[in-house]
Amino acid sequence: MSELVSEQDGLQDTRRIPPPDPDREPMKANVYERMAKAASQLTPLFPYDHAGAIVPCGNVLIGGPEKAYGHFFHWNTVNEVAVTYGSNEAMLATGQIMATQNLHGVNSFLRDEKNPEAYAVIVVTQHQSEEGDQTEALIARCKNCKAEIVRYDYDATPFPLPGYDVARHGEHDAPIRQFSTTLGSMEFVSRRNSDEGRTCQACGHVNDVFPSDIWGWARTVVQTDATTKAHRAMREAAAPQDDQEK
Ligand SMILES: [Zn+2]
Repeated sequence: MSELVSEQDGLQDTRRIPPPDPDREPMKANVYERMAKAASQLTPLFPYDHAGAIVPCGNVLIGGPEKAYGHFFHWNTVNEVAVTYGSNEAMLATGQIMATQNLHGVNSFLRDEKNPEAYAVIVVTQHQSEEGDQTEALIARCKNCKAEIVRYDYDATPFPLPGYDVARHGEHDAPIRQFSTTLGSMEFVSRRNSDEGRTCQACGHVNDVFPSDIWGWARTVVQTDATTKAHRAMREAAAPQDDQEK
């Protein structure tokens, strides 16, 4: 909690920021550097996604003749703010800040995603729940009649609140947790791209397959799983050594 502290001269108040949590060192990240090498959209720039955390997530959208991002809706119980760190031929201008509604549409945010000159680097920051459960949903609508074809609700309650799902997001001592939005998005795609998910119940239209590779969520989920296992393997490999020294 911040507190207002009166200066001794009494002329002005200054806001004092409490010292950092000793378990979570202050870090800085360069969004341009991170997103030049990132595996997916919505890559958390910092390893902190616990209850109350501010989670900035990087995105880099790029146009081109073969590019297709599709369209979906994201619903989140917590607030999100998007800041554009540079763009060309995009719906969001360089430096633009946008607070999203709880339910918001998501696409490439490029005016024409087939334009190779179009790009946008956008950081979407969400504020994790301080208490209680956090839920999100991804929704797809029929391209033909706009009826809802898939709604995928998933739990996103952050560590270490009572509703935190260890099986989905990682053990309490996991060095890297699965980011709930990335995991939920990957699961949404498998439903969306099933025959049932593609076929509109209202008009019968069979919707195109959602282009999942360009979003990269599945890749990030398997990489997170592999690096978590590697970290565990290294700890276990180091354990006998510790025993010998005792
Ligand atoms: Zn339809």
